Amino acid sequence: MEIQRVQSFIAGEWQNPDSNARDIFSAINGKKIAVAGNTLTYNSNVLDYAKTKGGPALRSMGFHDRAKLLKALAIKLNENRKILYELSFETGATQKDHVIDIDGGIGTAFVFASKARRELPDNKIWIDGRPEILSREGNFLGQHIFSPRHGVALQINAFNFPVWGMLEKLAPAILAGIPVIVKPATDSCYVTEAAVKLILNSGILPEGSLQLVCGSITALLNQLNCQDVVSFTGSQKTALTLRNHPRLSENSVKLITEQDSLNATILCPESNIGNPEYELFIKEIIKEITTKAGQKCTAIRRILVPQKILENVSYKLSQILSSIKVGDPRDLETQMGALISQQQKNDVAKKVEDLSRECEVSIQCVPQDVPAQGSYYGPTLLIARNPDTAVSVHSKEAFGPVATLMGYRDLDHASSLINKGGGSLVASLFTNNPENAGKIITDIAPFHGRLYINNRASAKEATGHGSPLPHMIHGGPGRAGGGEELGGVRAISHYMQRTAIQAHPEIISCVCRQWTMGANKKSARKHPFDLYFEELEIGYQLNTGSRKISLEDIEYFASFTGDKFYAHMDEDAAKRNPFFPGRVAHGYLLLSFAAGLFVKPDEGPVLANTGLDNLRFWKPVIPSDTIKVTLTVKQKTRRNKDYGEVRWDVRITNQDSETVADYELLTMNSSKNSSEDILVNT
Ligand code: NAP
Repeated sequence: MEIQRVQSFIAGEWQNPDSNARDIFSAINGKKIAVAGNTLTYNSNVLDYAKTKGGPALRSMGFHDRAKLLKALAIKLNENRKILYELSFETGATQKDHVIDIDGGIGTAFVFASKARRELPDNKIWIDGRPEILSREGNFLGQHIFSPRHGVALQINAFNFPVWGMLEKLAPAILAGIPVIVKPATDSCYVTEAAVKLILNSGILPEGSLQLVCGSITALLNQLNCQDVVSFTGSQKTALTLRNHPRLSENSVKLITEQDSLNATILCPESNIGNPEYELFIKEIIKEITTKAGQKCTAIRRILVPQKILENVSYKLSQILSSIKVGDPRDLETQMGALISQQQKNDVAKKVEDLSRECEVSIQCVPQDVPAQGSYYGPTLLIARNPDTAVSVHSKEAFGPVATLMGYRDLDHASSLINKGGGSLVASLFTNNPENAGKIITDIAPFHGRLYINNRASAKEATGHGSPLPHMIHGGPGRAGGGEELGGVRAISHYMQRTAIQAHPEIISCVCRQWTMGANKKSARKHPFDLYFEELEIGYQLNTGSRKISLEDIEYFASFTGDKFYAHMDEDAAKRNPFFPGRVAHGYLLLSFAAGLFVKPDEGPVLANTGLDNLRFWKPVIPSDTIKVTLTVKQKTRRNKDYGEVRWDVRITNQDSETVADYELLTMNSSKNSSEDILVNT
């Protein structure tokens, strides 16, 4: 087999491994398969290339354009994922494992691309929260914004997920508009290299947005500054080195760390042997021990069961684990592949030895018919008979197919044992009792990044204890590193700077490309409903005529809709209510009359009303009050070439100019170029 020379992509060029490169061996048979490593120097130009080319190019786009790049990149990888599967077998991973790493990584990029298009503005600035009123007259406001950092995202990854690990970090960084430098773990860097080659060769990303450095990054770390972000996944030991790195501390370089974690699962006390939660619990543990041969940061390491069924669970798990077929990951019958390397195998063996000093071995399977030079390690289950005094079970992570079982007396005891892990990525509960779930969640939530609760009702659709999802945060306090990744669009903010802007509303509106109360208004040449998406300017305003509300209107609306709530129908009862002076108009009547005041009825560019946000009724409207409406274009978001979403600020006022209700109305408005087609077709 040809030895692969794993390249790095540095300052626009693919570079072969240099004299400091190291050998990489197959997890399956121990044969040398690759060599990798480039040592960066202070003259390597990595930062310059990223900051002068990639950064400006990415920042010249808005979130939606960057989301399109990300989607294109995910499509490209998806079309070529078999290339990655083939390489990934050599890491010891089975086809099932590839689906988690490779398909999971690509899926994460797709989710981020789609969430960014739906949830972020078509803008370069991301608005955080609503404006804060800082002055009496409303001429001075506060607004928090996120803007892309002018640095690089240095992403240091662990060996176990060479594709997912890269993409789950790359996706939010590219969306944020910051160039990325990927530093993969050497043991599996040949898989990451192939993925990066697919991305770069596609030409989808602007020049300078992505570099790959296999090997030492010491020189790079020593040059980072306040605009850079280091995002690390790996062991507690390496995380500590980075945390204490003088350059990172001196320059307050943002550091996100995801490290190891003694994740736990609990079978709740009411879940007796054989009931659905018991069966789900057993199945989940087997999956967690064997997937990726247990080399998963989220894998279950500690198993908590009611003391009275400890022996039963030990027997059941041991029986199943002993039947797991460990072997060549390419063999379709194989249920569990190999660890990444001999070094990893030795490390796991050493950790099991340490754990065995305080725990009993329930089962330690020895893989049969596997090459001696392969890094195979059999599933191993230990029992901690004294979990309150045992130390290693709550502090040592054997990063392989190893877990420890322990009994608990009651829920308080279970919570105290689980929290002894000192902070973890995830804990799971198997219970059909919401009260038990509620109690445990309250007691352990501050110690965990994610809590996963499963039972008979959720089982069919539940996503799995060990599966971080792009929608939900991944990370955890203390031992788990104190970092946070994923979690939907909030992951993007980790690569941006939050800044508080304090200024006149017109300045805030201009920066945010969103009209704010107090900013300048523009009178439209025509009724705004006659204007196409491109013609509508932010701040365009329509002031309607007025309409007097009568008691007959209220009674008619009540009988027409069936809404005969006493506050609209019964003067005495309404007066007894602390909010109303007597009979008042329905809030929905006001909304309907408001529409009647501002809507232009003719067929035109407004295609549909798609919703209403942030509706508030501030003041009751009584018979004989007069209302009118101010409609202002607040924000525009193009959806496709044919139409875009318009967010309108709607304010209903009474005869004394008091606001009685306000809300944001959403409409879809057609584009000028395509509108003729649309109108002809309708
Ligand atoms: P590791 O030895 O800490 O290595 C992680 C990364 O750091 C690798 O890319 C490694 O490069 C690099 N590295 C090592 N020393 C460095 C230094 N002094 N400066 C900068 N970078 C350095 O961890 P691993 O063995 O790859 O991964 C296993 C561990 O990761 C387990 O403990 C597991 O729990 C944890 N993990 C955590 C998560 C999570 O999301 N929390 C996910 C996966 C894994 P080289 O390979 O070239 O040394």
